[in-house]
Amino acid sequence: MTWLVAAALAASPLRAQDPPRSVALLHANVIDGVGEQPLRDVTIVLVGGRIAQVGAGATPPADATIIDLGGRWVLPGLIDAHTHISSLAAARRALESGVTTVRSASTPNFQDVGLRELVKAGKLAGPDVLAAGVFISPDLGESILADPRLAALAGGVNTPEELRLVVNVNADHGVDVIKTRGTERAGLPNTDPRKQSYTEAQLRAIVEEATKRGLPVLAHAHGDEGAYAAVKAGVRSIEHGTYLSDSTLRLMARTGAFLVPTYTTLIDLREPGGDYDDPVLHVRALHMIPTAQKMVRRARALGVKVITGVDTQYGTTSVSRVSHEIVSFTELGFTPLEAIKAATSLAAECLGLGSRTGRIATGYEADLVVIEGNPLEDIRQVQDVTVVVSNGRVALNRLPFGK
Ligand SMILES: [Zn+2]
Repeated sequence: MTWLVAAALAASPLRAQDPPRSVALLHANVIDGVGEQPLRDVTIVLVGGRIAQVGAGATPPADATIIDLGGRWVLPGLIDAHTHISSLAAARRALESGVTTVRSASTPNFQDVGLRELVKAGKLAGPDVLAAGVFISPDLGESILADPRLAALAGGVNTPEELRLVVNVNADHGVDVIKTRGTERAGLPNTDPRKQSYTEAQLRAIVEEATKRGLPVLAHAHGDEGAYAAVKAGVRSIEHGTYLSDSTLRLMARTGAFLVPTYTTLIDLREPGGDYDDPVLHVRALHMIPTAQKMVRRARALGVKVITGVDTQYGTTSVSRVSHEIVSFTELGFTPLEAIKAATSLAAECLGLGSRTGRIATGYEADLVVIEGNPLEDIRQVQDVTVVVSNGRVALNRLPFGK
């Protein structure tokens, strides 16, 4: 019996974590997430979950775990700015893909708040989570079960009072961000992603109430009218944005609203398997993909801050990964360094974590990934992550000589 229990514990991603030990990464080539030039053949010292030293002359403490990277490449841990992770196993899959920080774009039942607390308490290796709680939508669907106060909204979430109630229920559960929608979904066969869901006035009620609670708002929007209304109402970011016009993109560039195109998800709609496998969605993706490609190129040209998110639960069938989004960005006109920033320092700025993570620099959280080769020469290197360090703990190490 005992061995069964032991086996079950070993299989669980939830383990009591020792306090982070000191780690020294030797012979690293570093892309720090900000600078144009890589740092060549440096040592990175991690102490107490933070980056303590980076440089040729860095000296590890005597008790440090030494990992010789032998000229491999180090990037800041990747950021997924649009996830729906709601389980321990899914969090582990995200982490093993190199994602050390996520912004939830809603979970049905505040699982994202629970995950955040486990990571903060050192019981789960990561990724760090910004939680969104319940998606504010005209129809709450199953999420109406997340809190007894939501039962009052069985008839819909439309008036300013109803909208403010969901903001406050979320805030009372301790979320970090509020998620709402400007348009309907692309990922359901019977909804039209171009159709506006909330007016500017409704979105403004949400943003005003969220602001009172100190929370930024992210808005799902494919169609232009719904997205424009959301930007006018003051959201932090537009999620998806497939049909955004130049005038909406210009407004975003002016206000500083971020764009999270989740382009990888459109590819998933088109391909068999993955999170979506439906003939209607396949056909829809055939026209959405070229539209989204043009839109992302225009967003970059007009100076919109574009960042990575892949809109998956990291379930067992998911094939969407931030590394794919990075590669896709380079196919849509970004330089490799721009695409890396979109997944690191720039994404951290959108999440309000720009001074904590997304960079390899002294004082930042020890969130980083190791890849085999130079991603500035071959961006596909980011798809093969061999080491993941999250908050100073080595969460994954596929190097044969690592300790
Ligand atoms: Zn989503």
